[in-house]
Amino acid sequence: MVSTTTCHVSTRVTGRYADAMNVTAKRLQSFGETVFATWSRLALEHDAINLGQGFPDFDGPPEVIEAAYRAMLDGHNQYAPMAGIPSLRQAIADDFHASTEISAHPDTDITVTSGCTEGIAATMLGLLNPGDEVIVFEPFYDSYPATIAMAGATMVPITTRPPDFGIDVDAVRAAITPRTRAIILNTPHNPTGHVASQQELEGLASLCEQHDLILIADEVYDRMVYEGRHIPISTIPGMWQRTITLRSLAKTFSLTGWKIGWAIAPAHLTRAVQAAHQFLTYAVPTPLQHGATTALSMGEGYYAQLGVDYLARRDLLCNALRSVGFNVSVPAGSYFVMCDHTPFGYAQSEDFCEHLVKEIGVAAIPPGSFYKDPADGAHLVRFAFCKTMPVLEEAIARLSRLSN
Ligand code: GLN
Repeated sequence: MVSTTTCHVSTRVTGRYADAMNVTAKRLQSFGETVFATWSRLALEHDAINLGQGFPDFDGPPEVIEAAYRAMLDGHNQYAPMAGIPSLRQAIADDFHASTEISAHPDTDITVTSGCTEGIAATMLGLLNPGDEVIVFEPFYDSYPATIAMAGATMVPITTRPPDFGIDVDAVRAAITPRTRAIILNTPHNPTGHVASQQELEGLASLCEQHDLILIADEVYDRMVYEGRHIPISTIPGMWQRTITLRSLAKTFSLTGWKIGWAIAPAHLTRAVQAAHQFLTYAVPTPLQHGATTALSMGEGYYAQLGVDYLARRDLLCNALRSVGFNVSVPAGSYFVMCDHTPFGYAQSEDFCEHLVKEIGVAAIPPGSFYKDPADGAHLVRFAFCKTMPVLEEAIARLSRLSN
């Protein structure tokens, strides 16, 4: 029977906590709600197709899900070791070796985190001191500035521009000061789809060497490359010793809800990441780590098919967006596409996205929060194409109403 107790606790908040902004710590006040939460909620409210927040609308491989389920039934339900279960750390080391030929040690160089997002937070909190400066390329993933701020450090953004959103190594050189501690490199890049070239990577590597900087490499889209190839920066001579590579299960295996990621770095950097990780989450769900071990043993055939499927989705959506009238920056990698929406007469991306979600029935992301100055992204909109073909086709049918 449902109990019907009466609640006598007052819900009125008075005093210095009456204003929500007085409760939120000052270092986080400027960030507000993440753009992903806002636009996924609006998508639901307006029954729109969600091409905003980047999560697939299909499940990961059944054998991976089965392995996690079996692990639960087999009693793998207590805390995992802080750094991750040994079989997963070994599988991560093997996977990293396959893509880099670097032998990361499973016991000293690997940390399993709660998605790459926790890996980012643990890296910032474990390595940055107040007053340090961190160079990031904007548009940036929105957790970079927030976690840099949590560490009391300062973000120094360098704007990349359409059509290819390339890295200007000279601009990075000019931004370096005695306080610069690290550079965050996300390749393939969310939201622009840029895949860093050998030349760009070598340019960054020589700056890291010259100024003794740490490189934080966010490579969660490493298996989604349509033009050129993904080059892990840790493979550039001298870089393994100063690089923390962050990868995850989420995008590659369509399991964003599992929140399983990992950080790979030489022992001296891993110790710093783990100094924070042990107090953020300590360890991440044990049965899902067993599932992740199975995922990483699926072999090249799985990745090849993933690439074929995503290339078809990219081409379908990009061609349709172009014929509707957007100026499209076709992504070389990732599962996002950035477009210039100004042909439709809106100056602000929020206004355009509001029209899109309410009147057209498609949710997208206005990328203002990926820039220090949101005005730099006002003309752009981000679409995600990690959806089944029929869903993309329905979204395209709706988007075609924009040109009527
Ligand atoms: N990485 C996803 C994206 O860029 C969202 C992750 C999140 O919601 N925090 O859309």
